[in-house]
Amino acid sequence: MREAMAHAEVGDDVYGEDPTINRLQEYTAELLGTEAALFVPSGTMANQVAIRAHTQPGDEVVMDARGHSFNFETGATAALCGVQVHPLRTERGIFDGEALEAAIRPSDDHFPHTGLVIVENTHNFGGGSVWSLAQLAEVTKRARKHGVPVHLDGARLFNASVAAGVQAREYCSLVDSASICLSKGLGAPVGSLVAGRRDFIVRCHRFRKQFGGGMRQAGILAAAGLYALEHHVDDLGRDHDHAKRLAKGIAALDGVELDLDAVETNIVFVNLTGPLDASALAARLRDRGTAVSPTGPRTIRFVTHRDVGEADMDTVIEAMAAALTDG
Ligand SMILES: *Cc1c(COP(=O)(O)O)cnc(C)c1O
Repeated sequence: MREAMAHAEVGDDVYGEDPTINRLQEYTAELLGTEAALFVPSGTMANQVAIRAHTQPGDEVVMDARGHSFNFETGATAALCGVQVHPLRTERGIFDGEALEAAIRPSDDHFPHTGLVIVENTHNFGGGSVWSLAQLAEVTKRARKHGVPVHLDGARLFNASVAAGVQAREYCSLVDSASICLSKGLGAPVGSLVAGRRDFIVRCHRFRKQFGGGMRQAGILAAAGLYALEHHVDDLGRDHDHAKRLAKGIAALDGVELDLDAVETNIVFVNLTGPLDASALAARLRDRGTAVSPTGPRTIRFVTHRDVGEADMDTVIEAMAAALTDG
């Protein structure tokens, strides 16, 4: 990847003249089966330019209550897009057509206009949960009935694809736009893309500039992204195997509660049932070389990735056993 970056041909992307960025955008559009795609610096920007391009200020966006754009993008839906979120309570981040339809606003001057639906696949706070094609198709069919577009937050779309045995382009064929992230499981240093119809991407391009995401000789970064898409997608299954192994080892320890069936991809949520709270446990794990996120007073999140191997899982299980008992 570093070599591909070093040899990248570059130009000024503000003028659309960086050949490597153009190649990444064309490659991604081809991969996802969309007309066009746009390279942006982060997953947050990918989602936010998509939200901005699909909606008008004052609109409402329907999504899961623990969804990324609602909770982890610094209020950008309000601050940058001027929209409000209509959060849905779900099991594991996945909702059905009926729940969606109940949330879509009637046409009446009292109400905001429902401007967009967002689905997240895999769903981070749903525990890396995977939407099936049928689940997604049912939701998009209902959205379409009301003329509401659907955006797929696919920061981990390839994890879903590998776990479900469904091509990323099959998921994307059901939605109006999708974002993908190059710097999570795929291991590039920087970058995301938003993909969709050409006229939509033209609008996204304008908002990318407005949000401060116009880049110049960024082909160096695009080269890393191309390398990641070409070489790292198939490795994601290994991360999923590692997560299962990790979950099994942790589930056998005292003082934790975790549902092994809920481990579908590279994310493992663990509930703590003993005296320690999540931040104290995370600090103890950090002292032992394992970084985890406390995600609630009594929950921690483990994420496996391409820089950790099978043997590391045993190290982490041992660290967890020690952290839970002797501090
Ligand atoms: C990480 C992530 C994003 C984007 O986050 P950035 O840190 O801005 O790249 C978007 N959606 C989901 C589901 C994510 O996990």
